[in-house]
Amino acid sequence: MKEGWEAVIGMEIHAQLATATKIFCGCAVETGGEPNSNTCPVCLGLPGALPVLNENVIELGARAALALGLEVQGTSIFARKNYFYPDLPKGYQISQYDKPFSANGTLTIMTSERDASGHATEWKPMNIHIQRMHLEEDAGKNVHEGLPDVDKYSYVDLNRAGTPLGEIVTSPDFRTSWQAYDYVNHVRRALQWVGASDADMEKGNLRCEANVSVRKIGETDFNNKVELKNLNSVRFMQKAIEFEIERQIAAHEADEPVAQETRLWDEKNNQTRVMRSKEDAHDYRYFPEPDLQPLKVTPDFVENVKARMPELPDVMRDRFMETYQLSYSDASQLVGDRSFAEYYETVARISANPKLAANWILGEFTRELNSSGKTADESLTTAEDLAELVITVEAGKINNNQAKEVFAEMFATGKPAAKVIEEKGFEQISDTSAIERIVDDVIASSEANVAAYRGGNDKLFGFFVGQVMKASQGKANPKVVNDILRHRLVG
Ligand code: ZN
Ligand code: MN
Repeated sequence: MKEGWEAVIGMEIHAQLATATKIFCGCAVETGGEPNSNTCPVCLGLPGALPVLNENVIELGARAALALGLEVQGTSIFARKNYFYPDLPKGYQISQYDKPFSANGTLTIMTSERDASGHATEWKPMNIHIQRMHLEEDAGKNVHEGLPDVDKYSYVDLNRAGTPLGEIVTSPDFRTSWQAYDYVNHVRRALQWVGASDADMEKGNLRCEANVSVRKIGETDFNNKVELKNLNSVRFMQKAIEFEIERQIAAHEADEPVAQETRLWDEKNNQTRVMRSKEDAHDYRYFPEPDLQPLKVTPDFVENVKARMPELPDVMRDRFMETYQLSYSDASQLVGDRSFAEYYETVARISANPKLAANWILGEFTRELNSSGKTADESLTTAEDLAELVITVEAGKINNNQAKEVFAEMFATGKPAAKVIEEKGFEQISDTSAIERIVDDVIASSEANVAAYRGGNDKLFGFFVGQVMKASQGKANPKVVNDILRHRLVG
């Protein structure tokens, strides 16, 4: 960022709560169905149809709120947000306004700037104030299609109408695009971790918007802000914010106006462009939804949800560092997602070697997961099987290169370590008498070298080790070979 300037960025995230049915009716939430197949009078907005709140929305909403450090409010009120759009058949969205479901959260994220090659320079904790997470229904989708020079058609698909959302709004706390990037990733993992949302940006069940303005350092007033929308990935979001910061600084310095508007990220040209002007700001004429009671959530309910929640990733990371003596970087990577973290912990516990287990999980296991596109819980190799391999390596029964080869086969086939080691004939010979026989053969057939070694040519020791390893087809335990050779060669 240009010296003397700072960016002011606030984030809004819409996360689809992972319920089986919609927020105010019993229609299924599913993607890819026949258009308008998952609809009923309620989500079609037919006159006289009445909404009924889905209890599971409260459960998942509470999980999301707790995972983000928000306070679930004792009373929240649904409100009508009035606007007209073809994918909103009622003419209003049921949302929440001045009494949201949860509020006043402090979330500690880890964040770092990135160098030119994209590597984090220094991870530091940062507190983000989350103003609120309210509950609301999603709208449907307008689908536009048509052939050039032929009639164009627009369709309305209401399958998505009434899908439950949590809208998470921060204060304008972010000063760089990477802070916003790290925040969205943090929220995404937290929601997935507690099962509140699939939080998959590609599938559209996590959508984020960034409000970006810039000002001279030391100024306290805000300049006009631009809302960035329709960001399809966290990386595009980061690029869009970065572009916007530079664009706005340049405009201010040239005394050109920065319009209050909504802009999109144009992936092809690597720039933002105007979607619509915000000057005619909507008056949504919010008022309390008369068809729904105020939502009361008791402290008991919240405590009950809390008790059933898994250990949160940051707590788990700190525990891994403490209990298993892992570095911050290793522990952070291990809690990248929940099934991965739990997989690691099982391997660490069974192998009783948390450090070696971490090396395997972050090394070979991660490599195989990445190249197969699998998650830890989809791996054919169970944590128990990987632990057995770690134990075998630790005991020196096979060497590291053999272990890697064994693991590749385990991962591809799901076979246990012992079976693959046997099939590959990798079991090391540690049996002293078998190695003694080989050593004796080697000594008997190398008279000249034996004499030279005994005459003081120490360098020949390596020759004998090589001969024994060759005769054993690489299976002799090198440590046992060394011991026996030293003893025998003394003569
Ligand atoms: Zn419905
Ligand atoms: Mn919203």
